[in-house]
Amino acid sequence: MRGFLLFLSFAACSGATVEAPRSPAVVAPEPIVATAPDSEPGSALAQHAQALRDRVAGKGFHVVVEEPFVVAGDGGEAAVERCATRTVRWAVRMLRQDFFAVSPDRVLEIWLFRDAASYRKNLRELFDDTPISPFGYYSPRHGALFMNIATGTGTLVHEIVHPFIAADFPGCPDWMNEGLASLFEQCGEADGHIFGHTNWRLDGLQEAIRDGSTPRLSQLVATTNAEFYGDRSRLHYAMARYLLYWLQQEGRLRAFYRAFRDGRAEDPTGARSLGAALGTARLDDFQPGWEKWVATLRRD
Ligand SMILES: [Zn+2]
Repeated sequence: MRGFLLFLSFAACSGATVEAPRSPAVVAPEPIVATAPDSEPGSALAQHAQALRDRVAGKGFHVVVEEPFVVAGDGGEAAVERCATRTVRWAVRMLRQDFFAVSPDRVLEIWLFRDAASYRKNLRELFDDTPISPFGYYSPRHGALFMNIATGTGTLVHEIVHPFIAADFPGCPDWMNEGLASLFEQCGEADGHIFGHTNWRLDGLQEAIRDGSTPRLSQLVATTNAEFYGDRSRLHYAMARYLLYWLQQEGRLRAFYRAFRDGRAEDPTGARSLGAALGTARLDDFQPGWEKWVATLRRD
């Protein structure tokens, strides 16, 4: 299965596709300090964390429980704790509040490798794996998110979205999965909610709009897995991201996600739910106005 990409910053963390330049991460505006009950000795998370500590003993890793994850990093105790608390805990709390009613049903690991050398070396030595992205990726096979955290935490938030979507929205099409993950790869908090900002993906989208080379929205939502991640993958990510960004700016994103998820049996591509959220019976009728609006956006 394809990996997923995401972008945040302690520096940073990421998923499985190779395409994002480093992005600044977003951290909670203030430290959130609380001990999760799942970190109590004897819990599945605590046991998993202890097994991880035993496994990497002497290799310089610090391991902490940050429900529903176990976080391990070799950038020093303070940096690992900071990323766990200010990025992982914050993002999980925000995403659950606004989007996800169901959490991953197994313990997942987040590995924060301090630089590119550690990322490559430890993936090889600990997992016999080769990075599919310079930033990071989610590996369902390993039950782990692997991050080169030196590139920022944006990718980390992106990748955190994927296992939650897998649990909360089975069968979620790639455009929605990557659109939502990408939206939050550069994010912050506004009025107590997670909020995606414009980012580097805007440039390629605006260029395609100028060239008149964007695929129809009706085609985007109907892409197969091979098509979405194919030759025009970069553009597909950007279109999905800025479609959801439009909904966010209009205050319609949360309701749309829930309507799409809950109505997926009758509307698997989301075309109908999306049309209702956008206020159009035909997605392609909405596209010209949306493209004009995207052309006016500027990177935050
Ligand atoms: Zn992704």
